Amino acid sequence: MQVPLLDLKPPTAELRAGLDAAYRRVLDSGWFLLGRELEAFEAEFAASVGTRHGIGVANGLEALQLVLLARGIGPGDEVIVPANGYIATWLAVSQVGARPVPCEPDPRTYNLDPARVANLLTHRTRAILPIHLYGLPADTAALHTLAAPRGLLVLEDAAQGHGARLAGRTVGALGHAAAFSFYPSKNLGALADAGAVTTDDDALAERLRHLRNYGSKVRYQHEFQGMNSRLSELQAAFLRVKLPHLAEWNARRVRLAARYRERLAGIPDLTLPWTPPNAQPVWHLFVVRTARRDALQRHLTTAGVGTQIHYPVPPHLTPAYASAGWRPGDFPIAEQLAAEVLSLPIGPHHTEEQIDHVCAAVREFFSR
Ligand SMILES: *Cc1c(COP(=O)(O)O)cnc(C)c1O
Repeated sequence: MQVPLLDLKPPTAELRAGLDAAYRRVLDSGWFLLGRELEAFEAEFAASVGTRHGIGVANGLEALQLVLLARGIGPGDEVIVPANGYIATWLAVSQVGARPVPCEPDPRTYNLDPARVANLLTHRTRAILPIHLYGLPADTAALHTLAAPRGLLVLEDAAQGHGARLAGRTVGALGHAAAFSFYPSKNLGALADAGAVTTDDDALAERLRHLRNYGSKVRYQHEFQGMNSRLSELQAAFLRVKLPHLAEWNARRVRLAARYRERLAGIPDLTLPWTPPNAQPVWHLFVVRTARRDALQRHLTTAGVGTQIHYPVPPHLTPAYASAGWRPGDFPIAEQLAAEVLSLPIGPHHTEEQIDHVCAAVREFFSR
């Protein structure tokens, strides 16, 4: 049996008729940017998150950058970011000219540890930017407690968290603004690059609508130096077909995660993901930990199981950030995670039989 980590053909097949109709609708309209499909998707997506505004943009990285730009965060400012996340979060901060200040994760959740964030705040700190890593909501309540008295922003990197909930609220409505990616492999994925910002802040939403379109409210009149970061009509139309299925597809992920948990319980050298009681994760990834990670990965490859490491090198040790002068040992928890995490296949179109095959192969490895 083959169990790919990810296969983007089944979701397209399931929704084929709707996607074909959306494609024809956009082609027939003769209108390809900043039109009715985008407006409708923005309203539908914001409603699903529970915010007043949704602003479609070109991708997740630019969604983050645009929020920082819109709030005037730039040179001389510091933004707290996860030491163990995806590099995009750091890059967004660097690319607006501000300084990413890495913070170690809570070793149980792998999300930003509020107690450690508290020690990193300076008079230059402007924002705290957690990732809802692997689809588990970060502890934004504790981050707001730190941020509020100092007037700091809590901004969400929600690229892995579509539909996840924390204490009854949906990811994307947990901070002052949230950045989503609709990269094809995300829980809500377009058929190309796409992204969005959600927020309840009217002034921020207005500014983002102009910033994504050359800083222009009226054509050829430029209020500020904006970007070109538009979500196309075609991708908006595809996303409108997929959005109504997000909850059901997330529910399938939840069922498969429960199956993993049941079948992988009690292996001494294997750490399963931990979920805080008030969180409802959406299992963008199902990430296990073991000191024997590389051997386990080789074993699973032989058994026909696709895996991946998210992420093998923490940003502070990448050549991209060499100029910052970080050294191995600066963020030991992030570094240990990079050495031990392994993502097992999970997605709405994996079958229980496939998950059972993965679990049997994992058990076989640890029984030797
Ligand atoms: C995917 C991802 C991004 C970037 O999204 P793009 O649409 O690829 O630019 C940012 N942050 C995290 C945590 C991601 O997983």
